[in-house]
Amino acid sequence: MQKFAIFGNPVAHSKSPELHNAVFEKYHIDAIYEKVRVDNANEIKDYIVKNNIIGANITVPFKEDILPLCDELSDDARNIQAVNTITFKNGVLKGFNTDGHGFMESISHYNNISNALIIGAGGSAKSIALALAKNNIDLLVANRSGHRLEFYKTKNIKTTLIENLEIKKYDLIVNTTSAGLEDDSLPIKRDVLKSLISPADYIVDIIYGHKTPFLELSKEMGEIYQDGAMMLVMQAVHASMIFADINVDFKDRQNIMIEEAKKHILKKIN
Ligand code: NDP
Repeated sequence: MQKFAIFGNPVAHSKSPELHNAVFEKYHIDAIYEKVRVDNANEIKDYIVKNNIIGANITVPFKEDILPLCDELSDDARNIQAVNTITFKNGVLKGFNTDGHGFMESISHYNNISNALIIGAGGSAKSIALALAKNNIDLLVANRSGHRLEFYKTKNIKTTLIENLEIKKYDLIVNTTSAGLEDDSLPIKRDVLKSLISPADYIVDIIYGHKTPFLELSKEMGEIYQDGAMMLVMQAVHASMIFADINVDFKDRQNIMIEEAKKHILKKIN
């Protein structure tokens, strides 16, 4: 049996197993994808090697910690300095990053975006920022604390502390923080956030499966908004193409995963 897994902490909320297992079930492939809670990145590597996991996803908070433990990196993972997808084949642990592709496909129905504000500067923000920058979108990354902003400066992406954030029109605002994941907090003070959201065209929170206070506020204000469900699905399709060497093409995997996501996470937020 081929074995796959997602590693994180927390990981109980992850719907990745449902998405990947749906593809295996539909095509009667002898494979299983499980979720594994770990306390550090070394545990991820040990678990993969010991259990012969051939493909994995990495989620909060290990996307950066796993990087130095990889034997090889894809260009995206090296650029982003974060890994969300792993293969373990012939004793080689290779890291990839599919979050940026997933994000861009999830917003492909939004038009005329020339500038964007990314709130948060963690692993997922890096992949989203580089993907948006590649599409010539003028970017500002705002974070609560300063240390994570150094990465963006090396990529010539504008940065600011949230407390110094300039209020102006951003066509797209993306919340990549974990505020609202397990609590009812907003990433930025409510009054400031309202001034930012009001002129924006599109609002995205990459947390999926429930309406965060950030999206609740966007809805109250009549904005066009979406959660991270489609990003999750699309990064999973790309990850599956990398690590599950099965005879099912991209479109089929995508359709099965979207159908599965409809049962769990898609359309739940409206
Ligand atoms: P990281 O741990 O790498 O980064 C977390 C970021 O959130 C940091 O910038 C941190 O700021 C900020 N933050 C956390 N809490 C708060 C708060 N209360 N107020 C303001 N800022 C806060 O996480 P990831 O980037 O890996 O993931 C972030 C979120 O994105 C998670 O909720 C995850 O579920 C979701 N996600 C969704 C995906 C999808 O496919 N839809 C894919 C990947 C992630 P600081 O530096 O100051 O601590």
